Amino acid sequence: MITATARSRTVKRVLVWVILFAMPVRSSLARHNTRSASSIQLGENAQVRAALAWFATNLSWINEQQVRLTEIPAPPFQESQRAAAFKTLLAAAGLSVQVDVIGNVIGELRGVNEKEIVVLSAHLDTVFPAGTDVKVRHEGSRLLAPGISDNGTGLAALAAIARAIHEAQIKPQRTILFVGNVGEEGEGNLRGMRALVDAYHSHLKGVIVLDGASTDHVTTIALASRRLEVVINGPGGHSWSDFGMPNPINALVRGSVRFINTKVPTSPRTTFNLGQIEGGTSINSIPYEARLKVDVRSESETELGRLESALRECIAAGVRDEMESSRDRSKGKLEWKVELLGSRPGGELEAESPLLAALRAADGMVENESRIERSSTDANIPLSMGIDAISIGAGGNGGGAHSLQEWYDPAGREMGLKRALLTLLGIADVAPEKTK
Ligand SMILES: [Zn+2]
Repeated sequence: MITATARSRTVKRVLVWVILFAMPVRSSLARHNTRSASSIQLGENAQVRAALAWFATNLSWINEQQVRLTEIPAPPFQESQRAAAFKTLLAAAGLSVQVDVIGNVIGELRGVNEKEIVVLSAHLDTVFPAGTDVKVRHEGSRLLAPGISDNGTGLAALAAIARAIHEAQIKPQRTILFVGNVGEEGEGNLRGMRALVDAYHSHLKGVIVLDGASTDHVTTIALASRRLEVVINGPGGHSWSDFGMPNPINALVRGSVRFINTKVPTSPRTTFNLGQIEGGTSINSIPYEARLKVDVRSESETELGRLESALRECIAAGVRDEMESSRDRSKGKLEWKVELLGSRPGGELEAESPLLAALRAADGMVENESRIERSSTDANIPLSMGIDAISIGAGGNGGGAHSLQEWYDPAGREMGLKRALLTLLGIADVAPEKTK
């Protein structure tokens, strides 16, 4: 997950409170009253209290699962080994578990109402390529390893919440799917969440994504992004005897320099990143290929489109400059293209949504304050299709995401676990206890 704090978070937060509490004539108020009543019931329900208490007595088990899962490599498109371990963990929590065709691990807890589904998900994949050392080191209270927080935290929390609900013998009103999904990071292009939403679309009443640490935010606004790849090809040749032929790397550098001088607005916040560059075969060969991967993000679809056009224009100009300055065009010219590797659609959760109300009620119960954030996460997919979704951290503290110095400190993680559990049960609802 990569977060960008919402520009007008204060305004938005105020807006939420205004809508929730200060508009008695709104028809939605009746619903909110019922919900706050049911959230009080949630806090008083003995089974829910048992589930909440389960966390405190099992914190070391939860930390152990996080370390164990983090030490199973899960590079993009290679999540299957970690998925298998996660499947075992969900099965041990009494769920009926299957792995779908794309590789998502789906554990079902059938509700009284089987037709209405709430999803709690955490992504299995990391950004780190195969061969990265993912052994977890301990330094004081900190755990250190690539992927330990993003998304070792989310996965461990998901397993813990499933287990707590199982141990407390809670029967939900709506069916809950506990999902360890593939393809959140990089070129995974959210394929796991896309497949999940495709499969359950009309039944989905809410999607809660657990991503990384902390309890300070709730992502309700999906940041739109595009991932592009520039490819430039030429005839290639010998560095000495063919000197003067058009060189794809030269053209890429010329185009890139133009592109990085593109002005982007701070509001709506718009960003770009030249993230990966490759090409050439040896130091003394004129390369036949050069490639560049670029990530562009914006709060505005218009700016996103403008930036993609700018990239194409700059690369076209870089190729033209290189062709014009080359001395020998007899052996061919440069070809170029810009391909779309992935795109994450934007969307926004309505301020009056029952899911946001459930999160706010959970925040109230655990005495937490959180701000609205705009970010690019698995929640982009349901949000872009009008399905209620949020992404939240799963508690504790973390840092250095997507770097080899990534760390996680589980101190205080209990609040994040309780917050996620209460939000989940707030939206799935709890069936009345059976009298024994
Ligand atoms: Zn993540």
